[in-house]
Amino acid sequence: MDILILAVVIALVAVGAVATGLVVSSRKKKQLPPAAPSSTPTITAPPAEPQVGEDAAPTVEEPRRTIEEVVLPEAEAAAPEAPVAVEPEVPAAPEIEVPEPTAGRLVRLRARLARSQNSLGKGLLTLLSREHLDEDTWEEIEETLLTADVGVKPTQELVDRLRERVKVLGTRTPQDLRSLLREELLTLVGTDFDRVVKTESAADTPGVVMVVGVNGTGKTTTTGKLARVLVADGRSVVLGAADTFRAAAADQLQTWGERVGARTVRGPEGGDPASIAFDAVKEGIAEGADVVLIDTAGRLHTKTGLMDELGKVKRVVEKHGPLDEVLLVLDATTGQNGLMQARVFAEVVDITGIVLTKLDGTAKGGIVVAVQRELGVPVKLVGLGEGPDDLAPFEPEAFVDALIGD
Ligand code: GDP
Repeated sequence: MDILILAVVIALVAVGAVATGLVVSSRKKKQLPPAAPSSTPTITAPPAEPQVGEDAAPTVEEPRRTIEEVVLPEAEAAAPEAPVAVEPEVPAAPEIEVPEPTAGRLVRLRARLARSQNSLGKGLLTLLSREHLDEDTWEEIEETLLTADVGVKPTQELVDRLRERVKVLGTRTPQDLRSLLREELLTLVGTDFDRVVKTESAADTPGVVMVVGVNGTGKTTTTGKLARVLVADGRSVVLGAADTFRAAAADQLQTWGERVGARTVRGPEGGDPASIAFDAVKEGIAEGADVVLIDTAGRLHTKTGLMDELGKVKRVVEKHGPLDEVLLVLDATTGQNGLMQARVFAEVVDITGIVLTKLDGTAKGGIVVAVQRELGVPVKLVGLGEGPDDLAPFEPEAFVDALIGD
């Protein structure tokens, strides 16, 4: 009987022990999750995923986290609408610039233009305001115009017109003289030209613009700036780096393109410019781009060499369709030399528009008149500085106003 009682007691103790163990182990399981974040370094995942409870199996080897490490993710998890923590892990997208709108650029740059053109407009006004307009004064007026590169024939025309009109005026108030000179200069610069850069093709393909000019005139820079002008106007652009003669030209152009998100098609240094130009248009068509701008090399080694090279580029590009615009880039500071270049290029390709660069650096704005006369083609754009948005559509009124000053 005693033995029986003893056996029952032993059995009861055993069952109690098992039951206690179960309670302990189950309590352990329940307690683990809340303990994990504060007491054990279980969260090794990036802070974006602070799922504290689930996979919190304690692993002793892992290092203890600092308070900030523990607290920060929790704070972020508590404010799910602010996903700030994720941002630094996203690779930074290449920065694409938004170029300035082109409308009114010339007006914005007018101060720069006026500063550089002082001697022409203000000089003329001062001379015309003299009490006695004698022959010496008219000669000085003529000289001022010639010095500003207006050219012999246009100068003569203007002086004749001014003489006539001043005679009719009688009294010459400063206001009269200003508006008279403004009118006559406007006539000289020409208000009837179509100065729009043609970037739209008649077909369902991109407009193709070829940029030509002697190296150093600012041709590549102008091509880059023009890409920005087009992008500012909402067009998509592909650039063709067909100036394979100057080593840095393709890099330079590509940098311009990257700044506004335009792709540059380029080839090996010294490669065939025509095939690069061809590929650029092909790429433009494939991409469905609005405009393809082709920068070319302007080696004036011999006229035949230039003719061969540019002629070939033009022919090859025209296998895709006709060129919409051929822009000749001229450096306004080179005066007569620039005019000579214009003549040579005009013999080689059909120039449809002129870009006068570096107008900010010369008082010889008269070249606008001279070169238009020479080629019978309008100045469409002017460069007024080295800044990326210092290329402006040419507007005769704003130009003449800048010449005369306020
Ligand atoms: P390219 O050899 O004809 O392609 O000439 P680049 O485009 O390399 O330009 C030659 C230099 O002229 C560069 O230093 C340009 O920054 C500078 N340039 C271009 N256009 C202008 C402009 O309108 N004004 C001024 N001040 N500099 C210009």
